[in-house]
Amino acid sequence: MPKAELHIHIEGSLEPELIFAMAARNGVAIAYSSVEELRQAYAFSNLQSFLDIYYAGASVLLHEQDFHDMAWAYLERAAADNVVHAEIFFDPQTHTARGVDMGVVINGLHRACVEAKARLGVDASLILCFLRHLSEDDALETLQQALPYRDKFIGVGLDSSEVGHPPEKFARVFEKCRGLGLHLVAHAGEEGPPAYVWTALDVLKVERIDHGVQSTKDPALMKRLAQDRIALTVCPLSNLKLCVFPQLADHNIRELLDAGLAATINSDDPAYFGGYMNENFTQTFAATGLTAAHAYQLAKNSFDASFTDAATKRRYTDMLDAVFTAFE
Ligand SMILES: [Zn+2]
Repeated sequence: MPKAELHIHIEGSLEPELIFAMAARNGVAIAYSSVEELRQAYAFSNLQSFLDIYYAGASVLLHEQDFHDMAWAYLERAAADNVVHAEIFFDPQTHTARGVDMGVVINGLHRACVEAKARLGVDASLILCFLRHLSEDDALETLQQALPYRDKFIGVGLDSSEVGHPPEKFARVFEKCRGLGLHLVAHAGEEGPPAYVWTALDVLKVERIDHGVQSTKDPALMKRLAQDRIALTVCPLSNLKLCVFPQLADHNIRELLDAGLAATINSDDPAYFGGYMNENFTQTFAATGLTAAHAYQLAKNSFDASFTDAATKRRYTDMLDAVFTAFE
């Protein structure tokens, strides 16, 4: 089934094998002695325990080629899962704080996106994310550094440690980005309360909510999300690994879809959470009993919620319809 991926952190696609290869070629020391030992450390109890390892893994990325190779490895896996459109998050502050130049990060990632169109038939673009555990001034400085590369990213997002860092902390930088014509998204309601989803919508004025699974606790919010067709980029295997839901069978994806919300399925940080797009779909469907009609709706939602033009969305939907017609 063709589909779009709208919630993928490119640094979270860095597989242990690639971390070790880059550590060796860049002469970077890492705290694990083998690929197996690193993989075994991927047992998380919450968002923060994951983020600690995630930032350690990103420390091997130094050169433009490293950023290119990381994105290329993801795009090849995405193409294999029939992802035809990807809007890829990247965290520049994770790299600029280590002395890596903004241009090295963006140029490397962007080159892989351009090649993906030609060589894999995947439409890929970039969304710059601000780290919410850092200050808004740091985010404003990051935006300033990225502006010379404005033509190489389509929007901005907000990620990292959610609880204690509400969306409204970033009101000024999001207003500035809106003025620049950038698309706006934010993580909200992953571990944080429904109030964070409200302020992401009403203060930051985002077009999509990343995660948003806590919204089911607030009936008024559910109504708002359904009425305004605000897409939620849900990541089931991430939610499972970070203990947002005790079991995949307890996931509320069906409740979100049946309430008429524009939910989508995505992989978040696939190298760390045990699966890329198709693995997220097949495990979630097996655990929750979603139907073929739900599958169609999820893929259709992913295209409708993407930041591409209307003609391209129609072309994607035609591809999807052709697959379902053949299947029937
Ligand atoms: Zn995420």
